[in-house]
Amino acid sequence: MGRLTPLYSALFKRSFDKRFRMAKMTRLPVLGRAMEFAFFENDDIIILPKDEVAKASLEKKRTIMMGKPVEPSSIMLPSKVIEHFISISRYIFLMDHCMCRNSSGCKDYPADLGCIFLGRGTLKIPESMGHMVTREEALDHLRKCREAGLVHLIGRDKIDSVWLGTGGKENLLSICSCCPCCCIWKMLPDLAASISATVTRMPGVLVKVEAEQCSGCGACVKKGICYLNAIQLMDGKADIGEGCRGCGRCVEFCPSNAIRLHIENSDFLIAAIKRIEPLVDVVSE
Ligand code: SF4
Ligand code: SF4
Ligand code: SF4
Repeated sequence: MGRLTPLYSALFKRSFDKRFRMAKMTRLPVLGRAMEFAFFENDDIIILPKDEVAKASLEKKRTIMMGKPVEPSSIMLPSKVIEHFISISRYIFLMDHCMCRNSSGCKDYPADLGCIFLGRGTLKIPESMGHMVTREEALDHLRKCREAGLVHLIGRDKIDSVWLGTGGKENLLSICSCCPCCCIWKMLPDLAASISATVTRMPGVLVKVEAEQCSGCGACVKKGICYLNAIQLMDGKADIGEGCRGCGRCVEFCPSNAIRLHIENSDFLIAAIKRIEPLVDVVSE
């Protein structure tokens, strides 16, 4: 049982405003390696593009390929990856609140929409953090998250198994629904490169700027759009750097429709599922 969870939870809240400074410490030679081993060892997390953005991209691509409009209902969206793991999970735990939004007093996104955890490690999460839910309840929660404009992440995240006291990291799969303002993963650009590299785009997803359509208005580089600071203005045009994790938020904000999300791998859902599957056994007792 995670007896230390309330203590970690209080520490998280108290030190939340120092998270970027703490993230930079992972770049230090000795302390950084120790922090990586303790909290991030063998992490593997995928950030899923927003469903609406992926849908527009897939509809367009398939319409071009088939020479006629496709049925929108026939498009498989990124959130299906999460639905897949929820549909096969024996244990599903829902956190009653979002630690990040709560800790920073978020005013823009709901603080009651917290993380979901899967796997037998959930049996050790203290009841004070949330409760077990049915598959239907979990799916309903995820739908609310998407309607609120949150972006899903899924993967193995050792720090969750440490602070929740769930034992081996292979027992816990984390599903987060993150906002661009308060999410803990905003610290990705500050972490050591080896840690930051464990949080990736969905396989086959690319976000590009169509330079001839970009007016250089700067709307996409405003605070609160790209939480990873992956877009800059260069020579009067938007430029998306390597730090992009393909969430698709900036695509929605460009008034000139100059930012495009491309899904280059038609098996992107299967590829994502195959990558997540071996990380945590969510099926067995
Ligand atoms: S990681 Fe995402 S869902 Fe989880 S607590 Fe932070 S913002 Fe909320
Ligand atoms: S919002 Fe669109 S048009 Fe404006 S700078 Fe960004 S990419 Fe260019
Ligand atoms: S540039 Fe930023 S906001 Fe745009 S898709 Fe990439 S990570 Fe998301």
